[in-house]
Amino acid sequence: MSEIEDLYQELLLDHYRRPRNRGDLKVLSSHADGHNPLCGDRVSVSVLVENGILKDIAFQGIGCAISTASASLMTEMLKGKPVEEARALFKRFLGLVTGDESPDADLGKLEIFSGVCNYPSRVKCATLAWRTFEAALNNNGQTVTSE
Ligand code: ZN
Repeated sequence: MSEIEDLYQELLLDHYRRPRNRGDLKVLSSHADGHNPLCGDRVSVSVLVENGILKDIAFQGIGCAISTASASLMTEMLKGKPVEEARALFKRFLGLVTGDESPDADLGKLEIFSGVCNYPSRVKCATLAWRTFEAALNNNGQTVTSE
């Protein structure tokens, strides 16, 4: 089975073709840029945080199917969640794609990325948007690089 067939499931392709929450936020708390030089993925994540709640989130960028679908699914999953819950989900997602989290971790739609742990170079594609999201939360103004 090829890497493409293994990883590119229908839901992933759907998010790649029709990304959710893509664009800019008119009102935002902070944003961060991320770059994965290994694959060429670039992503910019904008967040609006109010009273500890992630009221809005959007992303922009150009990347491969996995990085784009991951960014799209991430915004869909995180929008409206408490910031602490979003951070916790990021840690569990990292565990999933690096193979540390057990497969029955109940991560919902994010489980489509569980096969990524078999392809170390793809882990960077799948986590780029999340790392950039965390940087936006931390508001450190630095460009995230997967290297
Ligand atoms: Zn990529």
